[in-house]
Amino acid sequence: MKPTLHIDSASRLPSPEGLTVQPLRLAAMALVPSWLRRVTDGRPIGCFATGDEVQLMEAALRARSNPLFASQGPVKRYRLTLEARWEKLIGAGALRPDTLRWGAHDGQREIRSVPSGSWLVCTCARGVDCHTVWLAPFLARAGWRVVLRGEEVPL
Ligand SMILES: [Zn+2]
Repeated sequence: MKPTLHIDSASRLPSPEGLTVQPLRLAAMALVPSWLRRVTDGRPIGCFATGDEVQLMEAALRARSNPLFASQGPVKRYRLTLEARWEKLIGAGALRPDTLRWGAHDGQREIRSVPSGSWLVCTCARGVDCHTVWLAPFLARAGWRVVLRGEEVPL
C-alpha cells in the first residue's frame, strides 16, 4: 500500500481527541493564520507559494474574491507558476514519500520526512479553486496515495 496524504480544508482536520496515533498536521500555506498555526505542526516544504510567487498568490486571491471584476488571468498565472515548480520538484525527486519534507512554523525545528497518514490543509473552503487541489495530482504522480477532500486522486 502506498503512503497516504490527506488534502483538505483546515475545517476538516481530524480532532485529536480519541485518536491513539496523531497524524501530522501541516498547513500548506504561504501565510498561515495564527489559529491554524496553533492546531498544525508545521508546513510541507515546496507545497505553497514562496518568494515572488507570494505576489502572484495575492493577485490570484484578489481576483478570486471579486468575481464581478475578476479576470481569470491572475489565477491562471499563479497556477502555471506553481505547477511549473512542482514539475521541477518531481523531476528532482523532491515530492516522493521518502523525500517530501516538512518544517515547524517557527523554522527552528529540524526539517523531517512527511509520514504516511499526514494531513495537508489550507483555509480555502471546499469547492474553491485552491492550490492544494492543483497540488494533489503532482503528489499522486510522485508516488503518494492522495485523498483529496475525501476522494482518492486517480493516477
Ligand atoms: Zn487554498
